[in-house]
Amino acid sequence: MKIKDILAEGRPTLSFEVFPPKTADAYESVEKAASKIAQLKPDFMSVTYGAGGGTSDYTVKIASTIKEEYGVTPLAHLTCVSSTREKVHHVLEELKAHKIENVLALRGDIPQDGKTPEVYHYASELIREIKEAGDFCIGAACYPEGHPESSNKSVDMDYLKQKVDAGCDFVTTQMFFDNNILYNYMFKLLRHDIRVPVIAGIMPVTNAKQIKRIMSLSSSSMPTRFKAIVDRFANNPEAMKQAGIAYATEQIIDLIANDVTHIHIYTMNRPDIAGSIMTNLSKIIDGYEAE
Ligand code: FAD
Repeated sequence: MKIKDILAEGRPTLSFEVFPPKTADAYESVEKAASKIAQLKPDFMSVTYGAGGGTSDYTVKIASTIKEEYGVTPLAHLTCVSSTREKVHHVLEELKAHKIENVLALRGDIPQDGKTPEVYHYASELIREIKEAGDFCIGAACYPEGHPESSNKSVDMDYLKQKVDAGCDFVTTQMFFDNNILYNYMFKLLRHDIRVPVIAGIMPVTNAKQIKRIMSLSSSSMPTRFKAIVDRFANNPEAMKQAGIAYATEQIIDLIANDVTHIHIYTMNRPDIAGSIMTNLSKIIDGYEAE
């Protein structure tokens, strides 16, 4: 099923992200985790794409397992900046062969040495090409706090509009920890005439290592309330996990209460975390009535 059709059903959706293994010997454990997450029956599941080859082949494999064995709609990520036209089209053909209809089209991060094949420069080029290559439903990334490379948020918004005009059907946000940032951003989207559905990306932060990584990789700001939780519980793994799930749950309840009803959880391949959040939200999602 196409994700744009799921999003158009007028009810809240809950989806989960998983990432493929970096090495072949970890494949089995990742597939097991992805399968357990699929058994929770989310509205769809996304599978990330390792930009520099290696793990990239596993994306299609895991996406097709989710679909064929568990009947969950998959969203395969695809990055382009470190890729060639042949590789991109090879992946698209594989997706078609497995009847995977949804692609999250991304530029990917520029490698540290700055060297790229210079074929693709921005996600909008990839979106255009996917659109021509077949009947795919295409998503793209967006950044409520601005992309780290952008000189300012307004320019970032213009480039997001280019992605939408190129044919993207929905956008998924980078993680954020303060809902007001998203509400302001959604207002600005409308001012830029960006009217595709927005899926809010939520990261349950459940361990100290994750926090350091988030701070080094993304420009997500941390509200005082969130910092207090991390300061107090980061050295107590069980407490940090419980507090992280509670914080993410609260964030989601506030989003749904304010009619931001499409939620994507960065699960970090943890079925226990995905399951806890789903349980916490069961009545909220089932009982939602659009005004
Ligand atoms: P783009 O939309 O191309 O933007 C990149 C930068 O270029 C931005 O600063 C933008 O403002 C600027 N820009 C865009 N168009 C133009 C233009 N025409 N002229 C000048 N500047 C322009 N990475 C992975 O490797 N694998 C994944 O699976 C993955 N999944 C992700 C999922 C989500 C929901 C998110 C939010 C990010 C994900 N990423 C993933 C990270 C992503 O690849 C990086 O954030 C990357 O740096 C930017 O990708 P993009 O598609 O947003 O790029």
